[in-house]
Amino acid sequence: MARTETPRRIRGTQDIFGDEQRRFAHVLSTFERVRALYCFQRIDIPVFESTAVFARSLGETTDVVSKEMYTFEDRGGDSLTLRPEFTAGIARAYLTEGWQQFAPLKITTSGPVFRYERPQKGRFRQFHQIDAEVIGAAEPAADVELLVLADQLLRELGIADGVTLQLNTLGDAETREAWRAALVAHFEAHRGELSEDSLTRLEKNPMRILDSKDPKDRPIADSAPDIDAYLTPEARAFFDAVTAGLDAAGVAWERNARLVRGLDYYRHTAFEFVTDRLGSQGTVLAGGRYDGLIGSLGGPETAGVGWAAGVERLAMLLEEPAAAGIDAVVVPMGAAAEARATGIVADLRRAGVAVEMAYKGKMKARMAKADALGARFAIILGDDELAKGVGAVKALATGTQTEVAFADLAEALR
Ligand code: ATP
Ligand code: MG
Repeated sequence: MARTETPRRIRGTQDIFGDEQRRFAHVLSTFERVRALYCFQRIDIPVFESTAVFARSLGETTDVVSKEMYTFEDRGGDSLTLRPEFTAGIARAYLTEGWQQFAPLKITTSGPVFRYERPQKGRFRQFHQIDAEVIGAAEPAADVELLVLADQLLRELGIADGVTLQLNTLGDAETREAWRAALVAHFEAHRGELSEDSLTRLEKNPMRILDSKDPKDRPIADSAPDIDAYLTPEARAFFDAVTAGLDAAGVAWERNARLVRGLDYYRHTAFEFVTDRLGSQGTVLAGGRYDGLIGSLGGPETAGVGWAAGVERLAMLLEEPAAAGIDAVVVPMGAAAEARATGIVADLRRAGVAVEMAYKGKMKARMAKADALGARFAIILGDDELAKGVGAVKALATGTQTEVAFADLAEALR
């Protein structure tokens, strides 16, 4: 019989532990705190949806839908897909759960998302996003609020300095049509110089040539006409209101006229927060306005704007967060002390004190554990202390030691 092989972790997935886990948790708790300051509600939605939710929202021609989705048939024969992003599922929930009544709805969520991509630094197959959306608000104030929220999040994470907000407008429907026609004419004229991929994009989704990473495409993409000449007065006014809002809020931004979102329902604002500290995985947070999305899912025309950020990429940029110290380690010596310590530790924890019990090794090893855990105090329990009903409480920073009655321990440690 073949030897049983130890199972392996699936390529592109992660087991998040120790320092990595602390960074990860720090991103999520900071997001949770900041979203509450901006009065966004937290929601949770399913990890999988009908495949149609993503295929219709994102469009069949996008990389995500055509190459990256985890799609499978369940036992009932339905085609399901593990979410590759949040917006589509949120739009579905907005329609199926009657959330229209709460519009404008300011919501955030976070959790794992799945894309079949080539794993590398900052790129996984199961990764995590934080996500913020405003649905049912057509005003530029919603775009501004989301961008200021993103900026504050980066500031509070201490990484705003190395990250730049790049901003563009895709205009309204009329602008977009006119610009698209001008782009197609430009790319047609340079058909022979485009990459294979971009020739396909030219047929299906020509705007996407603008953000092609292929060096062959860059000169043609860079010399393509900007949207500015095609902006209607309304679209121009919208963009001006967004940039004025950012300026008023003290959020720095840069115009990037090459920044696009390929799908037809994207309107007006498109943005990315980028850094050069993560190699080619430099986009940490990205989003835009998607006023046509809910309509394209069969719902009433509904304005929407939002962004998503990769938790791993944000976590990689963080300074190493300090391990959270604990209050005390109980160090019992001898069987009687160990038995008593179990009750003391339980009482302390119930009183809200973070304690660990050191029950392995000799006295020296047990004290070393208290140091390693960054405890403020060690509570030593030997036969003498048991007889007196006290713990010997040693402040680990100073080495001073006092005796404290069992009943007063929680108070003394707080
Ligand atoms: P990229 O150009 O890096 O592939 P994207 O345009 O596919 O990014 P979005 O769909 O806008 O990314 O997702 C929002 C954010 O999610 C990205 O800015 C990035 O921080 C993160 N992200 C996207 N794909 C991955 C991945 N495979 N692994 C880790 N993080 C990712
Ligand atoms: Mg991608």
